[in-house]
Amino acid sequence: MSPEEKNNVSTQLAFDRQHIWHPYTSMHTPLPVFPVKEAAGVRIILEDGRELIDGMSSWWAAIHGYNHPVLNTALSEQASKVAHVMFGGLTHEPAVELCRLLVELTPTGLDKVFLCDSGSVSVEVALKMALQYQQARGMKKKKRFLTVRGGYHGDTFHAMSVCDPTTGMHTIFSGALPEQLFAPRPQCRFSKLVKDWQQDDITPISQLLAEHHEEIAAIILEPIVQGAGGMWFYHPQYLRELRVLCNSYDVLLIFDEIATGFGRTGKLFAAEHAGISPDICCLGKALTGGYMTLAATLCSDQIAQTISQGTPGLFMHGPTFMGNPLACAVAVASVQLLKQNNWQKKIKDIEQQLRRELEPAKNAASVADVRVLGAIGVLEMRAPVDMASLQKFFLDQGVWIRPFNKLIYLMPPYTINSEDLSRLTDALLKAVDLSA
Ligand code: PMP
Repeated sequence: MSPEEKNNVSTQLAFDRQHIWHPYTSMHTPLPVFPVKEAAGVRIILEDGRELIDGMSSWWAAIHGYNHPVLNTALSEQASKVAHVMFGGLTHEPAVELCRLLVELTPTGLDKVFLCDSGSVSVEVALKMALQYQQARGMKKKKRFLTVRGGYHGDTFHAMSVCDPTTGMHTIFSGALPEQLFAPRPQCRFSKLVKDWQQDDITPISQLLAEHHEEIAAIILEPIVQGAGGMWFYHPQYLRELRVLCNSYDVLLIFDEIATGFGRTGKLFAAEHAGISPDICCLGKALTGGYMTLAATLCSDQIAQTISQGTPGLFMHGPTFMGNPLACAVAVASVQLLKQNNWQKKIKDIEQQLRRELEPAKNAASVADVRVLGAIGVLEMRAPVDMASLQKFFLDQGVWIRPFNKLIYLMPPYTINSEDLSRLTDALLKAVDLSA
């Protein structure tokens, strides 16, 4: 094959279709993929010249948009110093600076940071921390985890075991996955008002704790917003009640803030809606502004000290690319950019516009629910959508929106202007008409 033929977009697409797995896809009947030439700001430019307004932030990650000069500079300056060194026995400024920022910005008491490769790995690390902590205290029976239905925590094994057992991968891997405990999904919707809270929402999980606390190491859940498990927003009082229950039953509380962290819900971290701190917290996705894969698991000083006093006195995890300097440098730049950019006002403006412009969808017969929180807008349809035809429809509208199951949703970069956001909401409303 000549170099020209190799670079030809249709040759590349043919190779892609034959040889490359994409997320959750079949090698027999893959949905089409669209070759991207470049991306800048909130626009993704395809090889055929089409420009798409990005409604997804590349799965919650690209909060500042693409090709950002500040992030580009951070990356290239770091590349000219050191791209990677092992973290065993060595350290460097980008990692120290990033961890300093994370300790400062995350909820009180999260003082120790473990840097890891991806969201799923940070969940594995959190669960291992909880197990090692309980073991170090002599609580050897505390080996299971309790969570709520409708959750999603990643694709590695222990992370899968705490994903929703119906929509997750439990059936496929049954027998190979550890068996965890599941309470129903929190029912009470998100509201800032305590009067909207119904106390019986906490009863099922409280009963499970009462029955099983002796074998439970920790509760893990996504605070306020359940993402890939259903884009569901629930009441902050649920988390306050859980905090009290965890303390009284001597069970750790783990928040998976991988999707909610860094402003998406209108607070820097979703835990702030409830005004509480978890014992362990996972961060990822927007951590590097969507530039590179990097995640972090934070825990309290008490957990770190207990693990370190136990046997073997070490925390047993240490990946090759731990604390990668390029990823840490771009993460520092991304977090600083967020701090400087009055993100609260931007998210508030996006939230108000999403509320206003998605409101008419409530009247559509095909729509079961419309919900908005921070820079997240969700239409829940009555029936699963036809992904392939809807994807094509959105491309024809010049927008990048990727629905799944019954959910069509937006989570644009925070830098989007109101005109572009209207193009996204307009495409959603048209899609609803199509599904009618
Ligand atoms: N937890 C949550 C809440 C997530 O949304 C995701 C990713 N969708 C993960 C964990 C897993 O992260 P990653 O894909 O980076 O492994």
